[in-house]
Amino acid sequence: MKVRLRNPDREVEVAGGRKVLDVLGELGINPDTVLVIRERELLTREDRLDVEDAIEIRPVISGGSRDGRGSSDNRMKCRRCKAPAVVEIRRHNTAFCRDCFLRHVREQVKRAIEHDRMFGHEDRILVAVSGGKDSLALWDVLLELGYPADGLYLGLGIGEYSSRSGDLTRAFAAERAVTLVEVDLEGEYGFDVPTAGRKGSRSTCAVCGLSKRYVFNRAARDHGYDVIATGHNLDDEAATLLGNTLRWQTDYIARQSPVLPEEPGLARKVKPLYRLSELETAAYAFLRGIDYVVEECPLVAGNTQLRYKEAMNQLEATSPGTKAQFFLGYLDRGAPLFRAEDAAVLHPCANCGQPTTGRFCAFCRAQAQILGRRLEEQAPQDEDRELAAELSEEVLPAELYGAAVPRGGA
Ligand code: AMP
Ligand code: ZN
Repeated sequence: MKVRLRNPDREVEVAGGRKVLDVLGELGINPDTVLVIRERELLTREDRLDVEDAIEIRPVISGGSRDGRGSSDNRMKCRRCKAPAVVEIRRHNTAFCRDCFLRHVREQVKRAIEHDRMFGHEDRILVAVSGGKDSLALWDVLLELGYPADGLYLGLGIGEYSSRSGDLTRAFAAERAVTLVEVDLEGEYGFDVPTAGRKGSRSTCAVCGLSKRYVFNRAARDHGYDVIATGHNLDDEAATLLGNTLRWQTDYIARQSPVLPEEPGLARKVKPLYRLSELETAAYAFLRGIDYVVEECPLVAGNTQLRYKEAMNQLEATSPGTKAQFFLGYLDRGAPLFRAEDAAVLHPCANCGQPTTGRFCAFCRAQAQILGRRLEEQAPQDEDRELAAELSEEVLPAELYGAAVPRGGA
């Protein structure tokens, strides 16, 4: 039978007449890191494949890892309605059919929004949408839950990858007749991400992350939104926490929260998918027929965040639930221990007016350097801060997130 593999796109021939799990085992693929698709259907590990079948194995996690074995012999059944299951969630030792799975995802998001008091129906919500599975799934769930959220797409100028993600995001917005705010980094700020990577002193991923945080906040404020929502999922948050912990970046650990309240000059930021894994958001997007960018960012090679995800996946393969225990356990029991680590004093950047700890904000300094312009000289303590941010890539610089804050909700 034929198997289509992605990233890079290729086809292999393997023996059919056996279970999905056995085929994945032969290919050395961890079942928790992929969607297995036959025609327009999702398959679970226990489904049988025919010699005539053609399947697609689509990674949900950039840099998907290996190993992972199943046990039971029966075709899986939905926990709620006993119909044949299409998605298995090993950390809950459960499986769902299509409809019950979609309901499960919406319930998890609803629970996060309410439990953490992220926003109410009266708030103006802006979803940062990249064209990937997570943020498109988030936008879809919010609309399904009755929140009239608008989208924000930031054009990063990463060649074919950016043009495709922009097209898919616009198509999603057009299909549902919802508002998409667009910002083009090059058009608005004079540089794109590949140029920033070549000319600036930061790594490409670091300057890309810095630009996103800056533009999200500015767009929310300029267009009068109360809250900005991103598609960060459980895997993202667990990998970030692992990275911050390995370096004992206690101020970054203290700020890692699904809700960062508004402060003067800073919009509220929320991550409603933090209780859902990448496998769940990918399965949701697929089952809802959402066309998303499967390809990875071509500049991501060597990103440390990916290595942390791989490490977490290896632990998860033998101990399902590790990621959730690590991150959700941190929120419940770890976060209180890290509070009040950092009481940064913020004032407006002398160049753009956005809040910062220094005279000029990190974004304006990066921009000046990339474009070969001069701002006045920098304070040395800012450079130390930036170096730490650089090392921790997915990190939240104090300029844009302010002081450590307690988690909303009880
Ligand atoms: P990443 O930084 O690529 O891990 O993405 C994290 C989140 O940031 C995504 O789930 C989106 O909510 C948002 N995001 C990333 N890239 C973009 C983009 N180009 N435009 C708008 N939002 C984005
Ligand atoms: Zn500035």
